[in-house]
Amino acid sequence: MESSAIRWISVNGEKNAATLNLVKGNNVYGEKLVKHEGEEYRLWDPFRSKLAASLKKGMKNMPIKNGTKVLYLGASTGTTVSHVSDIVGPSGVVFAVEPATRVARELIENVASKRKNVVPVLEDARKPQSYFAVFGKVDVVYCDIAQPDQTEIAIANCVAYLKQGGVMLLVIKTRSIDVTMEPRAVIMQEAARLEKSGFSIDQIINLEPFDKDHGMILCIFKP
Ligand code: SAM
Repeated sequence: MESSAIRWISVNGEKNAATLNLVKGNNVYGEKLVKHEGEEYRLWDPFRSKLAASLKKGMKNMPIKNGTKVLYLGASTGTTVSHVSDIVGPSGVVFAVEPATRVARELIENVASKRKNVVPVLEDARKPQSYFAVFGKVDVVYCDIAQPDQTEIAIANCVAYLKQGGVMLLVIKTRSIDVTMEPRAVIMQEAARLEKSGFSIDQIINLEPFDKDHGMILCIFKP
């Protein structure tokens, strides 16, 4: 999993992921900056970011690396986007889709204005055809929008923008989909939906104890 921009750093006896800070001296959401082998890293809190939680829970193939082009749905204020920006570095790009104006303002002020590789897209992920700023195909689609129909939304975005063989990471908040079903059954139901739509499942990660009733599905797009 280790990419050159991700390090596991011991803090108080606990191994934590950290990302090489693209904007030296700058932190985004109060995270600690630490020096490691002469470089500045930002500690990545698995309780604040489901991608960090997925790494901590044993993600086998981290698809986001130096130079990766990412379409990120549900950017919010940019907590996870900022770490993705560190990892992809200056040769990569993160198209950060977020329609809620209040959080999008923070995304722009605290993240996109300081990081040239983050392109804010203030649109609804239900309308991928309206993204004015996204060009070409991307290597990875990351979806964390907590909507009941999010799997369909994620698939529509992959059909529009993900390259063949690209990877989608789908965060499943089971209670947003069905509060009455057992969480594991919801995750398996969404995985089956993806398989029917031309994805092969690479890994399913249970995000507890960092996020209750959440899962992460990693799947490969082979339409
Ligand atoms: N991914 C973020 C992180 O780790 O820092 C947290 C995302 S938060 C759980 C969900 C976000 O999805 C909210 O900011 C919400 O406004 C956004 N969202 C909800 N519906 C959406 C839609 N249709 N299109 C794009 N974003 C949406």
